[in-house]
Amino acid sequence: MEKKRALPIFGQPDPNTPKDVHYVGRYALGVDWADGHGSIYPFERLRRDCPCGACAELEALGPGAAWPAEIARETDALRVRWTDGHETRFPYADLRALCRCATCAGGH
Ligand SMILES: [Zn+2]
Ligand SMILES: [Zn+2]
Repeated sequence: MEKKRALPIFGQPDPNTPKDVHYVGRYALGVDWADGHGSIYPFERLRRDCPCGACAELEALGPGAAWPAEIARETDALRVRWTDGHETRFPYADLRALCRCATCAGGH
């Protein structure tokens, strides 16, 4: 799958900078971006999108695999430690590219 990256425009808020990170209900993470866009990432999706490559190959997610134990905002990436001990780092630009809302996915 081709990744579409939102390019920052000088003098405008960087679309790859998170303004706010919060839980959406019990099963998803919400990110509000500096350019005003809002993304929702179901935990299971997030785990499957882990850039390590192995997580996407798992036949089934084990207990705790799609349950974050800790979510940390770092300078350039969002770090998620899962309940099963695995850790995932999503650079913000990649995270933004993972947004699958109608606008980002291009609509069908
Ligand atoms: Zn992984
Ligand atoms: Zn989106």
